[in-house]
Amino acid sequence: MRTPFVVGNWKLHKTIAESLALVTELKNQLGALREVAVGVAPPFTALNAVAKRLEDSSIVVSAQDCYWEEKGAFTGEVAPGMLRDAGCTWAIIGHSERRQFFGETDETVGKKVKAALAAGLGAIACVGETLAQRDGGTTFQVVEQHLRGVFADVGAPDAALLERIVIAYEPVWAIGTGRTATPAQAQEVHAFIRGWLTENVSAAASAAIRIQYGGSVKPDNAVALMREPDIDGALVGGASLQAADFVAICRAAKPA
Ligand code: PEP
Repeated sequence: MRTPFVVGNWKLHKTIAESLALVTELKNQLGALREVAVGVAPPFTALNAVAKRLEDSSIVVSAQDCYWEEKGAFTGEVAPGMLRDAGCTWAIIGHSERRQFFGETDETVGKKVKAALAAGLGAIACVGETLAQRDGGTTFQVVEQHLRGVFADVGAPDAALLERIVIAYEPVWAIGTGRTATPAQAQEVHAFIRGWLTENVSAAASAAIRIQYGGSVKPDNAVALMREPDIDGALVGGASLQAADFVAICRAAKPA
């Protein structure tokens, strides 16, 4: 019942011209793919051009972050409504690189998720442990703490809102390292997240919210990861920068 969702997080890569070249290829190659929702998250500078190029396509456009205020004296920030205006329908929130390098906290993640949803965006909220936390046996505690932040201000989401909330489980030790979680390691945490949703949000939320896996997803490991029952797609970094790899990952997410 959950449509898998694969999103390419381009991070700090690609000019407008490069972005348009990549999405044009994706549009051509993924046009016939059914049963998988696909999105791209270009840098802010390319969002509007990419959104326009994808107007006649089912590929959706996501920002890599957003702010929680709609306007005001917040130099350098971008509001959720501005992202809508630029053609975005989603925003990635709380990526581990934002937490690690830019001071993102569970509290700011909660505010951003609330603001994104209020503006009509979908929120892809990232959670996940570092290697030290995994080795220290605190993976579930860390993920739970991140989830509390994500849902702190969401209230009781109705069915329509559940479609716009996605959790990305991204073990930090697997991001950009070439070291991916095994399907069993990922599934274990995804199942934990689904259980947490049942207990702390609602049974409907647990059934409907898509949980992406992220962390060195490549064409050669995607099929095995996507086969796990609680993995509903992927958040893809490095491998989303090349059309062939990203297309192969999107195809791997098609339900068997
Ligand atoms: C990411 O940044 O969300 C990510 C999963 O990166 P990579 O696929 O490169 O590990």
